[in-house]
Amino acid sequence: MNRLFSALPTTVFETMSCLAREHDAINLGQGFPDDPGPEAVRRAAADAVVDGWNQYPPMMGLDAAREALAAFYAAEQGIALDWRAEVMVTSGATEALAAAMFSLIEPGDEVILFPPMYDAYLPLVKRAGGVPVFVPLEPPSWRFDADVLRKAFTPKTRVVLLNNPVNPSGTLIPREDLELLGALTADAGAIVVSDEVWEGTVYDDAPFTSVLHIDALRHSAVKIGSAGKLFSLTGWKVGWVCAAPALTAQLARAHQFLTFTTPPNLQAAVAFGLGEGRGSIAETRAMLQGRRDRFAGGLERLGFRVNPCAGTYFLTIDTRGEDDVAFCERLVRQGGVAAIPVSHFYAGHDPQRGTARLCFAKSPATLDAALDRLAAFV
Ligand code: PMP
Ligand code: GLN
Repeated sequence: MNRLFSALPTTVFETMSCLAREHDAINLGQGFPDDPGPEAVRRAAADAVVDGWNQYPPMMGLDAAREALAAFYAAEQGIALDWRAEVMVTSGATEALAAAMFSLIEPGDEVILFPPMYDAYLPLVKRAGGVPVFVPLEPPSWRFDADVLRKAFTPKTRVVLLNNPVNPSGTLIPREDLELLGALTADAGAIVVSDEVWEGTVYDDAPFTSVLHIDALRHSAVKIGSAGKLFSLTGWKVGWVCAAPALTAQLARAHQFLTFTTPPNLQAAVAFGLGEGRGSIAETRAMLQGRRDRFAGGLERLGFRVNPCAGTYFLTIDTRGEDDVAFCERLVRQGGVAAIPVSHFYAGHDPQRGTARLCFAKSPATLDAALDRLAAFV
């Protein structure tokens, strides 16, 4: 048995969802919407299952999906990609992250991480033999300090693993911070892996900067995306990587032995969604922005300090001086609402333990019911 993996607890999302079921709680813990998602995209998948090709698709992904991704990023983000050499479809962003860590890291290489971070990062880095170097971020700005970041780079730095927009903090990394990171990464001869799965949920017309917008990083960065997030179909597990040809080829070495391919019918539906069905992305974004505002307003009226949220499905609140794990335990058992303690995303590097994450990608009725329960709880 592998020691690292046998020591891992069950993920906090699974644990909280089980507790929510046990206590009949409203589940604002794990991030998933409670509606079925864009119908035209779901129908495209159904048609592709019934009428389409259901045998192995090409290892790098369906041509139609890769072409649609390149066209989508050209139109939406002004990023020019050669779909044949710079785009690969994976089984969710999770597989893309694994392929990146397993193909880029040599045992002993250092990987810079920014807690609070998505919970899959650290186990993947460690299993790839990477040595984590943490640059912890704190509310309310959740920005890194330039000097702390500079000191995190050493001659052993191989990868910088970012998330933008950030789960759980709901922040965007400003362009100037990415420029600094680009300069430091280029000096170190390292690679930036940027998990941009939440790029479709950026609110208030805020400018989103991808890692591929940064000149110093165009040939030394991997951009990761996910249809699960872009179309609010979180169970789909269709992801992708976009990177310069040599990097894409390197990640493909790992991908071919992780999953090899991704269901062709879902890829066909993603191609449709990125092209003809693209309107659903903006519609979902507008709907989510309204829900964020409704829920944030309600939380503030209850006296919670709500941190600004520029993207993702998540709001973070302060737990009024109580330890966040204790607060979330009490809330699910006594208050009937499941939330996630943000300290879980710090991997032991939490400087404050006083923040909880709540998912607002729910119907207005669900959000209002959760607010009623919170009002009775506080
Ligand atoms: N990265 C981040 C930051 C996420 O929040 C998630 C899903 N919640 C993933 C990766 C996983 O994406 P997928 O479901 O496409 O594997
Ligand atoms: N990404 C989702 C979240 O942050 C959950 C993913 C999972 O359950 N592993 O809530």
